Amino acid sequence: MVPLIHSSYLFTLRFASDRDFIHYRRLTYMAESQSVYGGVEGGGTKFVCAVGTGPDALYDQVEFPTTTPEETIQRAIDFFRGYQGPGKLAGIGIGTFGPVDLRPDSPTYGFITTTPKPGWSQTDMFGPFRYALDTPVGFDTDVNAAALAEYRWGAARGLDTFVYLTVGTGIGGGGMVGGQIMHGLVHPEMGHVPLPRIEGDMFPGVCPYHGACLEGLTTGPALQARWGANARELPPDHEAWVYEAKYLAYALAIYTYTLSPQRLILGGGVMQQQHLFPMIRKNLQEILNGYVQAPEILEGIDRFVVPPETGQRAGVLGAIALAERAARAG
Ligand code: ADP
Ligand code: ZN
Repeated sequence: MVPLIHSSYLFTLRFASDRDFIHYRRLTYMAESQSVYGGVEGGGTKFVCAVGTGPDALYDQVEFPTTTPEETIQRAIDFFRGYQGPGKLAGIGIGTFGPVDLRPDSPTYGFITTTPKPGWSQTDMFGPFRYALDTPVGFDTDVNAAALAEYRWGAARGLDTFVYLTVGTGIGGGGMVGGQIMHGLVHPEMGHVPLPRIEGDMFPGVCPYHGACLEGLTTGPALQARWGANARELPPDHEAWVYEAKYLAYALAIYTYTLSPQRLILGGGVMQQQHLFPMIRKNLQEILNGYVQAPEILEGIDRFVVPPETGQRAGVLGAIALAERAARAG
């Protein structure tokens, strides 16, 4: 009888290093068996789509401008349909600008609801992906997706209660409480908390709903309206940052008291101003005034208020993490 030998035993592949060998094994193993996930970061100005399993395993990525809902969603679907990299596409995750409907039992679940962005009001984001790609689809706000990326691969690893806040054109807030992504009645709107005013500050704020809420006082457009310059051009010793740090610290105090987070992660364009971090930390300690008896705040504030670790890719990585969750849930 002829002995049965698997054909791969007949070849000896040579590799320059063990690392190359491991890489080769990973790719061939993946090509045969592993699930990969598609992530959609839906932004008001651009969409980012990627396929992979995490920060070190992104196999394909594309970016395109946000135009009409029909065209933009179709482009994203076409990208996933055309994916030819390793692995099998086992789920899609969408983290998008909103407001969005997150109630699983709602007829408009997965819709962008009342956005002021022209043409996008009442847009079904979930449905077209679910229908066209026939895989499980996870859906959440852009900031909850980014928070999930931080939980999986960034500054919130090992925590179960944390806040992720982005300070940019608007303010987005999300995160987890007790290991659950923050949802609820709708989803958090942390940017619109009312704040005490700094004495003598008469700036009316720019929020169309509330004037001087957190968003009305601290976003890029708020800084532009108050100081007449783009935030990125204001020097570090400008008075603007004294107000900015104090108002952000008031908001963080509210989140600290109400949610008892183990960490506060601050991202977005305005937080590129690194010098804000020590100012915000100091203000937060002063506002809390020793009341929350936790060494993380009293002694380790540098690790309590931190920048994100997944950087610019937080949104799309978070969407991939949403896809993985949806796939696991079935
Ligand atoms: P978006 O919120 O639109 O998704 P960003 O988080 O980049 O995007 O926020 C853009 C806003 O952040 C703009 O108002 C801009 O002025 C401000 N911004 C961007 N980069 C910086 C920077 N390096 N320093 C201060 N402000 C910045
Ligand atoms: Zn507001």
